[in-house]
Amino acid sequence: MHLLIIGGGLAGLAAAHTIHRSAAKDDTLTITVVEPKAYIEVPWATLRAFFDCRVSETCTMPMSNFLAKHPKVTHIRAKVTSLTKSEVTLDNGQKLSFDVCLLATGARKSLDILNAYVSASTSDSEEQALESRRDALAATGKNMFAASSILIIGGGAIGTELAADIAGFSAMQNGPKPSVTLVHSGNHLVPELRAKGATKVLNMVKDMGVKVHLQEKAIEKDGKWFLESSDQPIEADLVIKTTGVYPINDFMKVGLSHSLDDRGWVKVDDHFRVPGTEGRIFAVGDCCDALQKTGVNAMGSKTAVAKNIIKTLRALRQNMSPDFLTGLATKAEGPPVFLITVGPKKGLAQTPFGALTWPLPQLKNRTMFIFRAKMELGL
Ligand SMILES: Cc1cc2nc3c(=O)[nH]c(=O)nc-3n(C[C@H](O)[C@H](O)[C@H](O)COP(=O)(O)OP(=O)(O)OC[C@H]3O[C@@H](n4cnc5c(N)ncnc54)[C@H](O)[C@@H]3O)c2cc1C
Repeated sequence: MHLLIIGGGLAGLAAAHTIHRSAAKDDTLTITVVEPKAYIEVPWATLRAFFDCRVSETCTMPMSNFLAKHPKVTHIRAKVTSLTKSEVTLDNGQKLSFDVCLLATGARKSLDILNAYVSASTSDSEEQALESRRDALAATGKNMFAASSILIIGGGAIGTELAADIAGFSAMQNGPKPSVTLVHSGNHLVPELRAKGATKVLNMVKDMGVKVHLQEKAIEKDGKWFLESSDQPIEADLVIKTTGVYPINDFMKVGLSHSLDDRGWVKVDDHFRVPGTEGRIFAVGDCCDALQKTGVNAMGSKTAVAKNIIKTLRALRQNMSPDFLTGLATKAEGPPVFLITVGPKKGLAQTPFGALTWPLPQLKNRTMFIFRAKMELGL
C-alpha cells in the first residue's frame, strides 16, 4: 500500500509521524512525502528569525532528521503540478500513483519570504538549502533595519508581530532606527483577539513607537503612500504587505476542480476526506477549509487524520470501498488559546480565563515554541 503525502510542512509531517508510529509493524506500507524544500521550518518562528540568528538556526532543521526517525518515509524533492484520483505529476515530469493521498500544501502568504516553497531549489544539497534559507531570513531583517521608514499594511497577527519585532529589535541595536507605521482596515488589531485583548496589544505596540492607523487603508499614488480617508502622506521607504492567506491548490484545477470551493480551498467532509475522490484523498492544515488555519489545528488533527487513513488503507487491502467506511474520527478545533508576541519581551495570550500578559507570552518569546513543533513531528 502506498500513502502519498503532498507537502512536508507541519500538517503533513505530523500526520506522517503518527501514521508511521501506528503502522510500525506493517511491512506493506510505504509513505512518500513530496516536498520541494530540503528542510523543515516552524512558520510561527520565521518572523523572529529575521532578527535573531539563534531562532533561525533552531526553527529550520534538515529533513534528514525526520527521515532518520521515520524509515518508512521517502522524501521526493519536487512540487506536485497535477493531481487526479489515483496519480500525481511532479514538476520534474515524474508520475506517482497512490492508494491513498493526503493533501497538506498549506497556503500562500502576502509576505513573500514566508513562501519558501516558491523559490525552493530542488537540486542543491540539504546543507546548501538550509544555509541559503537562513541567509535569506537574516537578509530580510537587515533590509528592514536599513530602511528609514517602514509601512506595514495589514494588522493581523503577522503584521502586528512584525511591526513590534522591528521596533523592539532595532531599539536594541546601535545606529538609526526605522520608523514603523502599521495600517489596518479592521477596527482592532489581530482579528482573532477579543476587543479587550486587542486594545492591550495596541497600547503595547504604540508604546514601542509604532504609529498605528485603524479602520484605514494605505493607497499608493505615483510611488508615494497615503491614508485613504485623509490623503495624509505616510513615510514609506519600505512597504510590507501582510494582508492575508491565499490558496495554492491550482494543481487540482484540471483533475479535481469540483473538490475546490469558490475561493480555491480544498473541500473536506467531517473526516478530512475530499469529496468526489472515493474516500482515497484526504486534506489537512491550511490548504483546506476544515478548521481555522493555525499550527495548533494543522498538527492537532494528526491523530484523527492518521486513524482515518489507516482505516482506509485497511479497507482497500480487503478490496472494500473506503467510501462507505463508518466509525471515522471527526475534525475538531484545537484549544481556544491565541498567543501573540509584541516585540522580544512582551505579548498577550487570549485564553478562556481572559487576556494574559504573563507567563505564556514570555515563554513564547524565550522558546518560540519550536520544541512543541518538534515534539509533534517526533523529533
Ligand atoms: C508568521 C506566521 C506566524 C504564525 N503564528 C502562529 C501561531 O502563533 N500559532 C499557530 O497556531 N499558528 C501560527 N501560524 C500558522 C501555522 O504556522 C500554520 O497554520 C501551519 O504551519 C500550517 O501547516 P501546513 O502544513 O498546513 O502548511 P505549511 O506549514 O505551510 O506547509 C505546507 C508545505 O507544503 C509544501 N507545498 C506547497 N505546495 C506544494 C506542492 N505543489 N507540491 C509539494 N509541496 C508543496 C510547502 O513547501 C510547505 O512545506 C503562523 C504562520 C505564520 C506564517
